[in-house]
Amino acid sequence: MKNQYLIDVFEKVKKRNPHEPEFLQAVTEVLESIEPVIDKRPDFVDAGIVERLVEPERQIIFRVPWIDDNGKTQVNRGFRVQFNSAIGPYKGGIRLHPSVYIGIIKFLGFEQIFKNSLTTLPMGAAKGGADFDPKGKSDREIMAFCQSFMTELYKHIGSNSDIPAGDIGTGAREIGYMFGQYKRIRTQFTGVLTGKGLDYGGSYVRTEATGYGLCYFLEEMLRCNGKTLEGKRVIISGSGNVALYAAEKAMQLGATVVALSDSDGYIFDEDGVDLIPLKKLKEVDRARIKDYLRYRPNAKYYDGCDGIWTTVCDIALPCATQNEVDEKIARLLIKNGCIAVAEGANMPCTPEAIKVFLDNGILFGPAKAANAGGVATSGLEMSQNSERRMWSFEKVDERLKEIMIKIFHSCDDAARRYGLEGNYASGANIAAFLKIAEAMKAQGCV
Ligand code: NDP
Repeated sequence: MKNQYLIDVFEKVKKRNPHEPEFLQAVTEVLESIEPVIDKRPDFVDAGIVERLVEPERQIIFRVPWIDDNGKTQVNRGFRVQFNSAIGPYKGGIRLHPSVYIGIIKFLGFEQIFKNSLTTLPMGAAKGGADFDPKGKSDREIMAFCQSFMTELYKHIGSNSDIPAGDIGTGAREIGYMFGQYKRIRTQFTGVLTGKGLDYGGSYVRTEATGYGLCYFLEEMLRCNGKTLEGKRVIISGSGNVALYAAEKAMQLGATVVALSDSDGYIFDEDGVDLIPLKKLKEVDRARIKDYLRYRPNAKYYDGCDGIWTTVCDIALPCATQNEVDEKIARLLIKNGCIAVAEGANMPCTPEAIKVFLDNGILFGPAKAANAGGVATSGLEMSQNSERRMWSFEKVDERLKEIMIKIFHSCDDAARRYGLEGNYASGANIAAFLKIAEAMKAQGCV
């Protein structure tokens, strides 16, 4: 970074948030790529856009007490960071994972600003969560936690102000319990959460949206570079919501998915993973990925989730968590013949890994753009809730596809306009930033 204004802003961010490496990483990546815009737009500097952008509008931290199955009191820490409302009400998921602390929620909330801007829908950005581990908990314990979490969170959210959704550890079951508690406290049946069940205000395709959207983005990126998904070998990290539906759509588009993982290890199935038993294992039984071998004894299971990246592939889709692909893994993927990487998870590739991909001509789809299909479909769920109507699966899927193709082209166009052809990561940041910055400038110093 050479621009003095951006350097000064970043110094302040570092000083204010010293123990939050993930947040600082996300901010650095954006500031570096918007430098050519700032060089040309002194009006953004005069309006203090960037120093306002890096400071959340509001951060809420709260106690979440609940009672476990042994009658013992447990206490978790809950978070909601309402980052930016320049283009719409706050919107972003809830992460339930033991690694959650304020720095993770801020990094995710910051990324959400740009992602939501790219969707073309009117959504501001927030993120929430708790350091609660849903793994191994009974349904009753999950319900007790979710009800307690919502008993505080309800004060800060609403269908016109802040609309949470799922993320790691928060799926249909957790959203259901949270929605039930919100309705009970507020006596209001509103679209205050997205990712709801189809029987009570949910949208078709929301479950599939992030994974399907990732593949629609990937398909367009490949097409515009003279390639297709047909016949490609794909590896996907994770086996949660995003990973499973990325696998399903990649297969529908003609690819063979040979490996998936969880935090314990990974499976390799030479002829292509059989999604029917895998979905049952992960979505219904909540089992571990190694149990897949019960259904496919010829497949292989290896301990350690990082090993998945040693698998020979044409395309890699990191869909588990942040910073799972570093420089060494990036080089290994290239050595093994990988031609494209698209991020299903948020910030799964380190800045060093992204540089290796870009320097080596690997097609790289950045998370903010490539995984925006989830929140875009949440936006469509909000529209359906406002209309009090439910669209068909086909209609939502078609809208999702249109949005993902549009997102790819806004990244591509912005990259070209700033002389960065093929750098969709910078293109995504620039396109998203321009919209937010104009909206913030128009609304004055708030
Ligand atoms: P899930 O909880 O459904 O699945 C997460 C998967 O990633 C699991 O297989 C989990 O393994 C694995 N995982 C999680 N944390 C780690 C870790 N620290 N190390 C290794 N593996 C890990 O979450 P989602 O699929 O919803 O989310 C995955 C990613 O996609 C996240 O980065 C999320 O922010 C992002 N995302 C999700 C969206 C959505 O709509 N759900 C939208 C946009 C982005 P295990 O079961 O062993 O923990």
